[in-house]
Amino acid sequence: MHGLTNTSPVEAADAVVIGAGVVGLAVARALAMAGREVLILESQSSFGTGVSSRNSEVIHAGLYYPTGTLKAELCVRGRALLLEFARTFGVPHRVTGKLVVATEHPEVPAIERLWAQAKANGVHEAELIDGAAARAKEPALQAVAALHSPGTGIIDSHALMTAILGQAQAHGAQLALCSPVLGGAVQPDGTMMLHVGGDEPMHLQARTVVNAAGLCAPAVASRIQGVPADSVPTAHFCKGHYFSLQGRAPFSRLVYPVHTAAGLGTHLTLDLGGQARFGPDVEWLSATADGLTAVYRTSCRWTTRWTSAGRRPSSRTYAAIGPDCPQARCCPPTPVFAPRSRPLASRPPTSSSVARSTTACRPGWACMASSRQG
Ligand SMILES: Cc1cc2nc3c(=O)[nH]c(=O)nc-3n(C[C@H](O)[C@H](O)[C@H](O)COP(=O)(O)OP(=O)(O)OC[C@H]3O[C@@H](n4cnc5c(N)ncnc54)[C@H](O)[C@@H]3O)c2cc1C
Repeated sequence: MHGLTNTSPVEAADAVVIGAGVVGLAVARALAMAGREVLILESQSSFGTGVSSRNSEVIHAGLYYPTGTLKAELCVRGRALLLEFARTFGVPHRVTGKLVVATEHPEVPAIERLWAQAKANGVHEAELIDGAAARAKEPALQAVAALHSPGTGIIDSHALMTAILGQAQAHGAQLALCSPVLGGAVQPDGTMMLHVGGDEPMHLQARTVVNAAGLCAPAVASRIQGVPADSVPTAHFCKGHYFSLQGRAPFSRLVYPVHTAAGLGTHLTLDLGGQARFGPDVEWLSATADGLTAVYRTSCRWTTRWTSAGRRPSSRTYAAIGPDCPQARCCPPTPVFAPRSRPLASRPPTSSSVARSTTACRPGWACMASSRQG
């Protein structure tokens, strides 16, 4: 299956990262900067085509997470590091500020709780403001109160990933495109044998493996013999749609509703070109809710004044998450595999022998980008 057989070549690697989204690329960069020989395996023909390029591109300030959790700590620290990285490497970004709005009085206690949460998380610049103050900042806003987070911003996610990949490659990491990990097995010596598909399938023995396959991470983990089944989380997919607004954006800051259990709520974000988009709505895969209706209903609640002037979100921009999304193709069916015991044949080729492209999809190792490009 997938061309992988007992006679497929066996290669060796020091550290393998599965998945070239923002997480895999950042892990690869850190490993390479720590002196490890890193190979990134990506199933698609380019890096960053998964969730990392289908999100709101917001640099979060750390308002929401329960104090003391890793998420709370890392979001605040990560924001500072991300801004420093973006400034150093010229990644386009802007600290726009953000308003979380209460459109009706019953929502005010939730905004107050969020303010207390933000303060407890160390987001000291967050401030609670009334409706008049909110409208002074954003005249088109419908709000009775708001939490103002001046430190929230936006970033060009693809430029960010390009910069991280460039840094990883500058420290010797290599990227193999069109190289889906089909499965694998933990070896008696503690290494891991991965089964890699693509046009030139192979077995790859690695000392360290990092599973950064995003939505497919649980599926990948469950196909590796020796990984305890109870350590693999169950995946629950949920789909969201984004809608872009043609014409000038009505706000200069990001605008969020009071958040819900399933996420931060359908919000308005801006891209660096100044275009506004609404999203994501939330559609659990078992649900039958009409995403279009949901996003209109939610976004129009707090933009009544502005929509009454006749402007509405107009075009569906993209959808994120879910097996019916393109990235679902990254989870191939479980291969039938019988490991072979022949000694490791060769090491991956050096940067001089591989294709210098991160976008062209070529067989096997030829899919790897130059390890010295930035
Ligand atoms: C709707 C939405 C909005 C969001 N908004 C924000 C936001 O505004 N700000 C923010 O900070 N975060 C946001 N997030 C979260 C953020 O986007 C994710 O946490 C992040 O992108 C996850 O990156 P990743 O590298 O883990 O996954 P991905 O980007 O999905 O990367 C996984 C990679 O693994 C590859 N892969 C999968 N299976 C295999 C395999 N078998 N073999 C080889 N490769 C494989 C995929 O092709 C993909 O390239 C949002 C998330 C969602 C869903």
